Amino acid sequence: MLLGTLEAGGTKMVMGICDENMKILRSSSCPTRMPEETMKEILAFFEGEKLDAMGIATFGPADLHPQSPTYGNITNTPKLAWRDFPLLKTIQEALQVPCAIDTDVNAAALAEARYGAAKGLDNCLYLTVGTGIGGGLLCEGKLVHGMIHPEWGHLMLARREDDPLTRGVCPYHMICAEGLASGPSMQTRWAMPASELPDDHRGWDLEAYYLAQVCIAALFTVSTERIILGGGVMHHEALFPMIRQHVTQMLGGYLVSPRLADMDSLICPPDLYPNSGLIGGALLARQLME
Ligand code: ZN
Repeated sequence: MLLGTLEAGGTKMVMGICDENMKILRSSSCPTRMPEETMKEILAFFEGEKLDAMGIATFGPADLHPQSPTYGNITNTPKLAWRDFPLLKTIQEALQVPCAIDTDVNAAALAEARYGAAKGLDNCLYLTVGTGIGGGLLCEGKLVHGMIHPEWGHLMLARREDDPLTRGVCPYHMICAEGLASGPSMQTRWAMPASELPDDHRGWDLEAYYLAQVCIAALFTVSTERIILGGGVMHHEALFPMIRQHVTQMLGGYLVSPRLADMDSLICPPDLYPNSGLIGGALLARQLME
């Protein structure tokens, strides 16, 4: 079985071909420019391949309702050239194979649940913390879409009093997760990129405090069994123990489960990095064949 996969991101596109066991046979990437030229590069990668199915793991927001006339379109993205772009339709018409689409983070959650950090579990949240914050949720074995798709990055958070940033960087909300804890929020707050923040800078504890609130929301609402934190900001590995500590404090001893005794597993980095999304796309394709 040959499965095509595309991880469509705001800054780059990653294309791949996998076998049915999710072995990546070939992959390539190109920067995300204007839709027309970018699509040309993407389709050139797949040219001549005898694919059985194709899976697309896309940045959002996207229309993921199969009954919708604009199913598979990117919707109101700040990347204006891509707004309303029919991503699924363009690829399906060019490749002439069955195509599946979901958010990049849902695809990553699926991949981690089948082959990675949440292997064997039916419930996990994959959260990416970088230029933006997004979350993909697998609940009782199914990827959650709901009305549109969950927007973990725009959860309202409690702002900490010692935070010098009085207004988050999200243009839509004063104090959502993306506004207070994304890479750009750190850059605005401390006047330097997160990657240059010294290890002992108080900004890391503040960051952990905000991300812990998102984790708490996942634990209290959908009672997730695993929270996988990926994305550029999470490359700072010292964040993990800090987040776990804040989560423990915020739980206040209320939840009781053996899983909470193993916080290192409960809140962890992705196993499949940097291929969670790419493998997730291939899994979406494989699901079409099953
Ligand atoms: Zn927001």
